[in-house]
Amino acid sequence: MEHNVLFYCVKCEQLKTLEQAGVVFRTGYFRNLYPLGCCVACGNVSR
Ligand SMILES: [Zn+2]
Repeated sequence: MEHNVLFYCVKCEQLKTLEQAGVVFRTGYFRNLYPLGCCVACGNVSR
């Protein structure tokens, strides 16, 4: 069940909860379980 609230940040290269997600990509999955995305912290330093 916990898998549903996790995503994989491609910048941190870590699993994080969706609460911390800035962007979640719908195009790919990490280990076929976790959606790929980018957390808020990474988004804030994207420049
Ligand atoms: Zn991140």
